[in-house]
Amino acid sequence: MPKSVKKLDSDVVVVGAGPGGCTVAKELSKRGKKVILIEKGGTRERFIGNRLDTLFRVEKELNVGLFLRRTVEGDNLTLAHGVGGGTHIYLGSAFSPDIEYWKRYNVDIPQELVDEAVRECWVSPPPDEFIGPGTRRIWEAANELGMQWEPLHRHVDFSKCRVGCEECMNCPHKAKWTAKVFAMEAVEHGATLLTHLKVREAIIENGVAVGVRAVGRGGQIYEITAKVVVCSAGGVHTAEILQRCGLQEAGSWFTGDPTNFSFGFVKEGRGNGFEHPMTIGYHDKKNGVLFSAMLEPYITWHLQFIQDEHLRALLKLYRFRKALGLFAKISDEATGQVTPDGKVSKSFTQRDWNRIQYGRDTSENILIKAGCDPNKLHHTGITLTHPAGTVRIGKLVDTNLESPIKNLYCCDTSILPEAGGIPPAMTIVVLGKRLARHLQTIS
Ligand SMILES: Cc1cc2nc3c(=O)[nH]c(=O)nc-3n(C[C@H](O)[C@H](O)[C@H](O)COP(=O)(O)OP(=O)(O)OC[C@H]3O[C@@H](n4cnc5c(N)ncnc54)[C@H](O)[C@@H]3O)c2cc1C
Repeated sequence: MPKSVKKLDSDVVVVGAGPGGCTVAKELSKRGKKVILIEKGGTRERFIGNRLDTLFRVEKELNVGLFLRRTVEGDNLTLAHGVGGGTHIYLGSAFSPDIEYWKRYNVDIPQELVDEAVRECWVSPPPDEFIGPGTRRIWEAANELGMQWEPLHRHVDFSKCRVGCEECMNCPHKAKWTAKVFAMEAVEHGATLLTHLKVREAIIENGVAVGVRAVGRGGQIYEITAKVVVCSAGGVHTAEILQRCGLQEAGSWFTGDPTNFSFGFVKEGRGNGFEHPMTIGYHDKKNGVLFSAMLEPYITWHLQFIQDEHLRALLKLYRFRKALGLFAKISDEATGQVTPDGKVSKSFTQRDWNRIQYGRDTSENILIKAGCDPNKLHHTGITLTHPAGTVRIGKLVDTNLESPIKNLYCCDTSILPEAGGIPPAMTIVVLGKRLARHLQTIS
């Protein structure tokens, strides 16, 4: 027998509890709005501190690529679910919004919002002792080659972190800021957090969004009315939701900041596998590449190696301690799409390939200079860790992040007007604060 529809009412309904959604929910509930924050995943903490937790947190699909999600073309695509969204498994690298980038799209970024985000998202530089000896080898080598690598800020409270711990993806010390911190603050200010509830679409009446329709456990249907709907379901799922609302252009573009890891093996000493990740790096803006020192975390490194080299990797898997590595992340062009069934197709342009090659060549030079055996270098396949740009500003949403459907806003990486090329979490937090300011007067 069909169940009756559960009905709830709010001022603002926010879809998705990543950094975008949690920021909007926190800011608006603090200002006295009645907010409902909906997340399709849960709040589970049981496996935190266990390296396998990451596997429970990422979206999976059965395929030859070790069951991680992949694009139609076969590249890795990492999406996380649960309260905190991507920040639950992110590496905690903190980059302030690039003001020049936003100026090009007529989006003002008030400095006071950046300052607030720095304070509230635990942003700080890594203390010296957290930059390990392997990482320093890469730093010295890169600078000898004429690059200007420098310490990178982190979303980490180093008073809680441990030297030698590299488990940021699944921080066991509660030292890494995640968007869950904001979700809990929103709840303290009266917001309702509904988990294991998946939003299908916005409810639209006479061209105006008036709420959302969602499906919960056991197929329970919910209809939640609101004066304003904010879709923060991430770079892929926001596009799907907007498509279901009749905005067919959503998902016609896609950027992913394709990332390649490169590593070699040192003859003397240890590599950087057991060192705090992403403590140093270099944003080569001219060539559209961000470099940073780190190996993929233990187990993930092994799985990636097997995915790349199949059985040949088995003979080298025990050498993690000797591996020294870095990544190159490029700003790609928006040639990709999200299909109505949620699949992502992502091809690369010649400019993208040139950047990828430049990133690999530069990484190789650094590793050789740092003492790795030139005959045993390895470049991983591509991973897209920043799915974005699918409902981009200027094409679908306006500079206030409102879609062509009145009162339906978006606030997550989907609105990025071009590839950011830098870790986006802090930018999304700042945009969430900016949107909350805009909405406080109208909702
Ligand atoms: C391995 C890895 C490392 C990273 N490292 C860094 C880093 O060091 N620094 C940095 O700044 N960024 C990093 N990132 C990227 C960063 O995590 C993401 O860019 C960021 O989380 C995006 O935020 P968002 O608000 O756009 O969406 P997301 O974080 O993707 O959140 C969207 C949320 O919406 C939920 N959702 C989706 N569909 C629905 C639906 N229909 N109904 C209800 N809920 C739904 C999802 O479950 C998810 O929780 C990393 C990402 C990965 C994968």
